[in-house]
Amino acid sequence: MKKKNIAILGSTGSIGTQALDVVRAFPEMLEVTVLTASSNADLLIAQALEFRPAAVLILHAEGYQKVKHALGHLDIVVLCGEDALQEVVQRPEIDLVLNAIVGSAGLRPTVAAIKQGKDIALANKETLVVAGQLIMDLVKQHNVAMLPVDSEHSAIFQCLLGEEQQAIEKIYLTASGGPFRGKDRAFLTGVTKQQALKHPNWVMGAKITIDSASLMNKGLEVIEAKWLFDLSVEQIDVIVHPQSIIHSIVQFRDGSMKAQMGLPDMKLPIQNALTYPQREANEFERFNFLNYPTFTFEQPDVQTFRNLQLAYDALRDGGDRACVLNAANEIAVAAFLEDKISFIGMSDLIEATLCQQKKIDEPSLEDLLAVDQQSRIVARDLIDKIQIK
Ligand code: NAD
Ligand code: MG
Repeated sequence: MKKKNIAILGSTGSIGTQALDVVRAFPEMLEVTVLTASSNADLLIAQALEFRPAAVLILHAEGYQKVKHALGHLDIVVLCGEDALQEVVQRPEIDLVLNAIVGSAGLRPTVAAIKQGKDIALANKETLVVAGQLIMDLVKQHNVAMLPVDSEHSAIFQCLLGEEQQAIEKIYLTASGGPFRGKDRAFLTGVTKQQALKHPNWVMGAKITIDSASLMNKGLEVIEAKWLFDLSVEQIDVIVHPQSIIHSIVQFRDGSMKAQMGLPDMKLPIQNALTYPQREANEFERFNFLNYPTFTFEQPDVQTFRNLQLAYDALRDGGDRACVLNAANEIAVAAFLEDKISFIGMSDLIEATLCQQKKIDEPSLEDLLAVDQQSRIVARDLIDKIQIK
C-alpha cells in the first residue's frame, strides 16, 4: 500500500505533537513530508531529525538560521515566513494537510492547500469560523476531503458514516463545562489565568484551554459544525457532559440517536482523520464502564458564560460576524493571558468589537482577511482606550 504523505502545520503544538505520536505508531502507513512551526526551533529540529520530512518551515525569522544550520546539510528544504507557508502546503508529494495551527492564521494555508487538491485534516476550527461558507464551497469545487480532528466533530462525522442519505434532525455537541462549570458571575469576575488554564479533562494549547473555560470553544465549535455538516443554527444544540466520554450525538428524523464514545484522548480523533477511511488497531487505553458508573448532562449556562451566546448570535447574524467574533476573541484571550483584562472582560471586549465593526453581508475571502485584521486593531484599541477590564 502506498504511504500517505502528510504535512503537519503547527507540528510543535499540542495537536501537532500528538499527531506525530500517531505517525510514530503507523510508520508503514503514514509519512511526514512537511513540518511547520511558529517559533519553537529546537523542537522543530528534533522532529525533523526524527521524521526526515522533505521540507520544514519556521514562521519567525529569528529561528531560521538555527534550523537551517541544524538541517541544511541534510536533504531537507528549510523555509521561513508566511508566504512560504502558503507555498509549502502545495508541494506535489503531499496527500493530506493536517492543519493544527492555532487561530485565524490557519485560514490562508487551508485555502492554498484545498486549491491544490489536498485533502485536509482540520484541527484549526478558526478556519471554518472565519470563512466556513467559502471554505466548504472550495472543498466541493476541488473535490477534496475535509476530515474533522476536533473530537466533537470527529464524533459527528463517525456517526454519519453510512447515513449519508438520511436526514439529520439535530446534533448535540457535548461540552465538559470547563473548570468553572456551575460557577456564577461573581466568581468568574475574580478568576486568574492559572485557574482558567486548568482544564478538568483535556491538556491542550493555551488559547483553546481559555476558550474552553469561557465556553467560547463550544461557540466556535457550533459554528464549525454548521459548516462541516451543512446544518441550520436551530439544528445544533450544546449539552454539558462533564465526564467527556460521549464526544457528540446525532439525532435522525426518526428520533434515533447515534453517539460516539471513548476516553478523552485527542490521539483518537487525530488517528481517525490521518488513517481515514481505515480504522487501525492501536494500544491506547480502553474505556472501562466501572470507572464511569454515571454519565450526567446539564444545560449550558449562557447567561454566565456569555461567549457561547455571542457565538450563536454571530452565526445567526451571518455575513462577517463570526470573523469579527473570532478576531476579537483571539485578542481577548491574549489580553487575559497578559493580565490586561479580566475573565469576564473578554466577553465585554468581543461584544464591543462586534458593535464597532460595521457588518459586511457577503464578504469575499479578501474582505474576511481585512475584517480579521481590522477587528484586531479595534479590539486592541478598546482595551487601551475604553479600558475594558
Ligand atoms: P498550540 O498552541 O499547542 O499549537 C499551535 C501550533 O501552531 C504550534 O505548532 C505553533 O508553532 C503554530 N502556530 C502558532 N501561531 C501560528 C501562526 N500565526 N502561523 C503559523 N503557525 C502558528 O495549539 P493546539 O492546542 O495544538 O491547537 C491547535 C488547533 O487545534 C486550534 O485551532 C485548536 O482550537 C484546535 N484543537 C485543539 C485541541 C487540543 O486538544 N489541543 C482539540 C481540538 C481542537
Ligand atoms: Mg472540541
